Amino acid sequence: MSKNAVNVLNKLNKAGYDAYLVGGCVRDLLLGYEPKDFDVATDASPEQVKKVFRNCRLIGRRFRLAHVFFGREIIEVATFRSSNSDDNKDQKVHEDGRLLRDNVFGSIEDDVWRRDFTVNALYYNIRDFSIIDYTGGMDDHTAGILKLIGDPATRYREDPVRMLRAVRFAVKLGFSLDQATEKPIFELAPLLKGIPAARLYDETLKMFLSGKGIQAFEMLRHYGLFKNLFPQSDHCLNSEQNNFPRIFIAKALENSDKRIADGKSVTPYFLMAAFLWEAVQGAAKEQMRGGDDESIAYQHAASKVLSAQVKSISIPKRVTQSMREVWLLQLRFEKRIGGRPFRLLGHPRFRAAYDFLLLRAETGGADSKVAEWWTKFQEASDAEQKKMTRPPRKSKSKAKTKAKNKKIKSDNG
Ligand code: ATP
Ligand code: MG
Repeated sequence: MSKNAVNVLNKLNKAGYDAYLVGGCVRDLLLGYEPKDFDVATDASPEQVKKVFRNCRLIGRRFRLAHVFFGREIIEVATFRSSNSDDNKDQKVHEDGRLLRDNVFGSIEDDVWRRDFTVNALYYNIRDFSIIDYTGGMDDHTAGILKLIGDPATRYREDPVRMLRAVRFAVKLGFSLDQATEKPIFELAPLLKGIPAARLYDETLKMFLSGKGIQAFEMLRHYGLFKNLFPQSDHCLNSEQNNFPRIFIAKALENSDKRIADGKSVTPYFLMAAFLWEAVQGAAKEQMRGGDDESIAYQHAASKVLSAQVKSISIPKRVTQSMREVWLLQLRFEKRIGGRPFRLLGHPRFRAAYDFLLLRAETGGADSKVAEWWTKFQEASDAEQKKMTRPPRKSKSKAKTKAKNKKIKSDNG
């Protein structure tokens, strides 16, 4: 357990407050996993928490929280929340049922019912090393079941992101969704459209960069969630051509899952570029039919696809910039004569673009001979590289035959 988290619990207790570990850290510790972060719930108000810790900052509008800093580690301390309030100035509900602001403080008994899944509503009490469980979360945890607290449809309407969390935790923990928790998702999936695009980007990355991206993808497709996150990709998947697009995204995810398993780094832009590649190609073809040359067509297609995508999921500029580069570099792999291959090799996105090319070749979307050439080119010595990029002999031998013919002609008079 994080020493800093223990420190926070003890300090709050000493100051006369109740404080518990809650949420993912308790759930994960019970499974023997190392928690990603440690969250604390307390009956102290954010201002009271701030008085206990020097190294503390208050953040958030939708939920007011205290962050306690220990070097690079942040312990998040949240005051118990309540859903009942006579004075609703601190709680605001959108007409579609979504909670917009939720700052009503309460007791632990109130706080429990605000949480999403029963296994996320277990409170660890360091005073007596016990776990407090109001919702049957321990039984569900033992059985490996994700069950929403309360009426599932209502809870999804309050916050549609809970549908994505259901998928993320099912995949991460290897748990299954309780029937009642699962059922409304098919129908309510379109509610994701009402979620701010920035929040969806974070959630999406968490799902796909978890090391089990392929499972998350399949589950999201199954529940009809994927098409609300990546409408253009979903459209391509449904109109698949000799099996190609479906394989491509799945392969990209398999690849990145494997990299994570091997302890290698994965970048969001690579996956995002893979998700939208088929759409970019489609749009580029259309541009070319309209008369653009290939390079211009791909630039326009990239802009078009990206601006449509960021309506559902806002992707940071630096990420879209890299996606664009990976796409456009694909065209340059075709040019293998003269100085161009050397310049491409020195491009900061070369490695990612080359991996992308391999993936395309693997799934039938690019000439495998081109991919093999680039593999060989990188490993080649300077002399070999020069040889590989020399203009083909053909023109030389053509010139030779021409000269020869001329000679024969002149010989013949
Ligand atoms: P992990 O940190 O591994 O992603 P987690 O369960 O800790 O999983 P957090 O997003 O850190 O997830 O949230 C901490 C806790 O806050 C959750 O366990 C849950 O109890 C509560 N919570 C978070 N998001 C929601 C939500 N959208 N609706 C209801 N409760 C939530
Ligand atoms: Mg957490």
